[in-house]
Amino acid sequence: MGPSLHPLLDTRIRQGNPNFSGGTLKCHCIHNPVTVHLSSNVAHNHACGCSKCWKPAGALFSVVAVVPRDALRVTAHAEKLAVVDPSAVIQRHACRDCGVHLFGRIETDHPFTGLDFVHVELSEEEGWQEPQFAAFVSSIIEQGFPPEGMGAVRDRFRQIGLETYDALSPGLMDAIATWTAKKAGRLSNL
Ligand SMILES: [Zn+2]
Ligand SMILES: [Zn+2]
Repeated sequence: MGPSLHPLLDTRIRQGNPNFSGGTLKCHCIHNPVTVHLSSNVAHNHACGCSKCWKPAGALFSVVAVVPRDALRVTAHAEKLAVVDPSAVIQRHACRDCGVHLFGRIETDHPFTGLDFVHVELSEEEGWQEPQFAAFVSSIIEQGFPPEGMGAVRDRFRQIGLETYDALSPGLMDAIATWTAKKAGRLSNL
């Protein structure tokens, strides 16, 4: 047993159900929780070591995925939501009372515009896509994690079958570069 990464990653990873069609995310408030309904499964689910994604207390990493924006609907207590950092590319909508991030949305011209970022651990349903990889692993050092512990962190991810990257996965980096090249007219818009 290595360092604790995240509650969803500290035991064997539970495989998702490819036919799962969505469910409800709920913030941590006992009274009047904010709820968000997703009408599809998530994609690109992954562990993220950046400082901006919401993570549960004690976790080194967040677990974050995307859904099409059209598949996300706030179903209760939208009045409790506020954007954490209006200057960030991803506008993370958090509960004012408990601090949990319910969804992140990009409102500018960006390769991931149209996708909302969500945390499936906020749902009681089972079947969500399992984590696929770990992103921005080295970023945990910027938040105070001792660099000499990084070998153990990467070993732990490998033990549970997740590849580690210090940016996003190659597929997502390629998608960003493709979007940028098309915008600059260096690739045709297929
Ligand atoms: Zn809350
Ligand atoms: Zn992140």
